[in-house]
Amino acid sequence: MEQLPPPSPQASPFFDVRMRGFRDRVHVETVIGMVDDHSPPLPAETVPLTEAFGRVLASPLCAEVAVPGFNRAAMDGYAVRAEETFGATAYNPLSLTVVGQVLPGQPFAGVVESGQAVRIMTGAPMPDGADAVVPAEYAQEVGSIVRITEAVPPARHVSRVGEDIAPGRQLFAAGRVLRPQDLGLLASVGIGTVPVVRRPTVAVMVTGDELLPPGSKPSGYQIVDSNSPMLAALVQRDGGQVRLLPIVPDQPEALRQAMQTASAEADVLLISGGSSVGREDHAPRLLAEMGRLLVHGVALRPASPTGLGQLGAALVFLLPGNPVSCLCAYDLFAGRAIRRLAGLCGDWPYLRLPARLSSKISSALGRTDYVRLRWVGPATTAEAVGAVEPLAISGASILSTTTIADGFTLVDAACEGYPVGATIEVYLYDRVFANPPRSPQ
Ligand code: AMP
Ligand code: MG
Repeated sequence: MEQLPPPSPQASPFFDVRMRGFRDRVHVETVIGMVDDHSPPLPAETVPLTEAFGRVLASPLCAEVAVPGFNRAAMDGYAVRAEETFGATAYNPLSLTVVGQVLPGQPFAGVVESGQAVRIMTGAPMPDGADAVVPAEYAQEVGSIVRITEAVPPARHVSRVGEDIAPGRQLFAAGRVLRPQDLGLLASVGIGTVPVVRRPTVAVMVTGDELLPPGSKPSGYQIVDSNSPMLAALVQRDGGQVRLLPIVPDQPEALRQAMQTASAEADVLLISGGSSVGREDHAPRLLAEMGRLLVHGVALRPASPTGLGQLGAALVFLLPGNPVSCLCAYDLFAGRAIRRLAGLCGDWPYLRLPARLSSKISSALGRTDYVRLRWVGPATTAEAVGAVEPLAISGASILSTTTIADGFTLVDAACEGYPVGATIEVYLYDRVFANPPRSPQ
């Protein structure tokens, strides 16, 4: 991990915000800049092709060989000397003598002489002397003779040396996110292992005396931890390897111990809960004591009690416990860092679409708002955009607003909101168009 810049004014001297509130809040763009400064791609590791799907190539890959490496038949049929088929039609078939057969992987021993043909299967090497293939549907074999009913020009139905890949060609640049077909192509040139960017290990730690592990039934005043399943899924989406840790109680010593252990084994530590200004919100103070607290308090709604820092070599994100805030803070900052460490583009992996607002969005100057939206009208023509309505902007604990929503928009700190009818940009939660615009329910 690179050297840190000098501590921000927020980081030193440490101001204990508990029961006092934030003195100031850092702008979203500033935090994003700091995230970028601390998230260079991790070093490369080598993996077999069978494990390389979706991984990010760490260095360019070139072909050392041609594909195909020999001229080969592209159809089942007869290898011939093309000029000897000229004039062949269904009404005027031309006869050639079949002198043998060639199958994939087995070259023909002889040479195709004038008046001769060799039965050939797709993928088999072209015999010497032949320069085209007559497809089986234009040939009838009777005894040792084949009657050709269509003329073929030279090279017809022959896949030539290097037609797919010329030797020396760069196949993929560094940064390529490997697709299934990429792995097939790499195999075809004899590459069996690939250098890929190491995936960041991301420890997920939730804190709170009120929390029960996922899978429990909420009971009494205990609630079930929503954030670890959500964060685990987000981390996986963003190319990280998740390490889910046991729930940590709101006790400074327990939290200190858990932070120390987790940070030693992870590239990124996500701490959910205890990041705000309540009496039991110990994480910011502990991070400032044990490592560095670069940011605490962001001009963002929801998710203002977000923090960023470093503990040992681990980048630490303090995420608010409120699930919507947690999602928002993850998406804006932690996810960006994880994607960048994983060698991916830092930008959101969300589809972005323009949409028309069906009711206004109000926002305070100086603060970025993360506004959940849902479709209320489908696009009617190819040009027209669909209509969206904002769901309640506040209510960081109402996680179902994010499941009802189709996406979200960000209202910039310099913007007071948008009137009805404004065209805004919507980021869709579904990466594929799984939940298309629908009619109002
Ligand atoms: P905190 O950030 O710890 O002050 O928590 C803010 C609110 O979010 C409180 O109502 C918590 O009970 C709730 N909360 C904290 N952590 C979680 C979690 N992992 N899952 C669901 N709700 C949580
Ligand atoms: Mg808490």
